[in-house]
Amino acid sequence: MKIYNTLTRKKEEFVPLNDNIVNMYVCGPTVYNFIHIGNARAFIVFDTVRRYLEYKGYKVNYVQNFTDIDDKLIKRSHEENTTVKELADRYIEEYFKDADSLGIKRATVHPRATENIDDIINFVKKLIDKGFAYVLNGDVYYDTTKFKEYGKLSHKNIDELKAGARIEVNEDKKNPTDFVLWKAAKEGEPYWDSPWGKGRPGWHIECSTMSTKYLGKTLDIHAGGPDLIFPHHENEIAQSEAANDAEFARFWMHIGYLNINNEKMSKSKNNFFTVRDITSQYDPEVLRFFMLTSHYRNPINFSHDLLEQSKSGFLRLSNTVDNLRHLLDDALDRELSDEEKAYKEKYDEYKRRFEEAMDDDFNTADAISVLFEMVRDINTNIDGNSPKELIEYILDIFLKLSSVLGISYKKRDLLDDEIKKLIEKREEARKAKNWAEADKIRDELKKQGIALEDTPSGVRWKRI
Ligand SMILES: [Zn+2]
Repeated sequence: MKIYNTLTRKKEEFVPLNDNIVNMYVCGPTVYNFIHIGNARAFIVFDTVRRYLEYKGYKVNYVQNFTDIDDKLIKRSHEENTTVKELADRYIEEYFKDADSLGIKRATVHPRATENIDDIINFVKKLIDKGFAYVLNGDVYYDTTKFKEYGKLSHKNIDELKAGARIEVNEDKKNPTDFVLWKAAKEGEPYWDSPWGKGRPGWHIECSTMSTKYLGKTLDIHAGGPDLIFPHHENEIAQSEAANDAEFARFWMHIGYLNINNEKMSKSKNNFFTVRDITSQYDPEVLRFFMLTSHYRNPINFSHDLLEQSKSGFLRLSNTVDNLRHLLDDALDRELSDEEKAYKEKYDEYKRRFEEAMDDDFNTADAISVLFEMVRDINTNIDGNSPKELIEYILDIFLKLSSVLGISYKKRDLLDDEIKKLIEKREEARKAKNWAEADKIRDELKKQGIALEDTPSGVRWKRI
């Protein structure tokens, strides 16, 4: 299996460091607000990566942090007249609601920065002791000129980076690219005691500290959004490799940008959407499906029309699953004919092609087209005369492959039982020669996407 590595800018064969264990770290949200759909893309994609690795038999140790202390949290807590802790607790809870609805599995550990302060302080101490960091009026900075490979992830040299660095408040820093490891507390800000006075950790240091603590010095995969390559991930490398004398991450994975109607998403342009904005109108599985219809490294454009297209695509998949389940209710329990045996093998081939797409740097777009080929095949060749064994076999493969994508076809507006009841009501109406009522029920079902077929052995239905 091959993964594109941002570090080498190549697709490389993926083999974990320790047998069948994959240690994977994903930068998590800063919990001062609901997550937006750009965040959601990253979490959905890397959850899919994890699911596929698990499908391949790896044990995945998946760590995703919560940044629960930073300037944004402090500002928002002042605005809302609450504490940083209360704000963080609230939005962590909201994160889990969104993640659960989108089928994003819980990480093995979800560490919080504020619960790892002692480890962070020790990490900073180590960097000072080794000569990679310096203290400046209660702040601690990382000296980027000390780390010879600074810029290796973003493929820039330090002079280019220095020239591009924005002028910050503290101009006493030795170099413009130096970044803060520990920030002295200002009046009214939350703080922890440290050897350098009262303060709080910088953002980059929490990921280096917590990934080392929970996964060890060398990660198999480190992943995140495209905006994190520089400076966040570059700085994580500088910190971790300086402190641990070991390669930090063997594979760096980054998703592409998400645009809204071909423009960058931003609050000022009024085209900013939280996950909650979208899932209040769409089944969350449709949003997840939408995110996986493009290759994860490509930019993805988000628009109402494209989401509607995804919705109808998703419906075709979920209708097929429902129809197979329904067919199983009274499927024939008979031996497969030779022709059916040969036909069954076609589905092993679909499965192989799905895996081939996923093995090629998680090409979910191609994997999804294999599912659509299966749908066409099922709709043409599987019906009420198909044997139970064959339907079960196909349904099992279809659901397994779908669950690699994190799709379980959870929500249905009209359940099988409700359909059955309506069909019974229609039968009663017909017996009583109440044709108007019978037609009304048939029309109602049709509106819900259910087609009825009167056959000699009774009424059959199917989702269309
Ligand atoms: Zn991070």
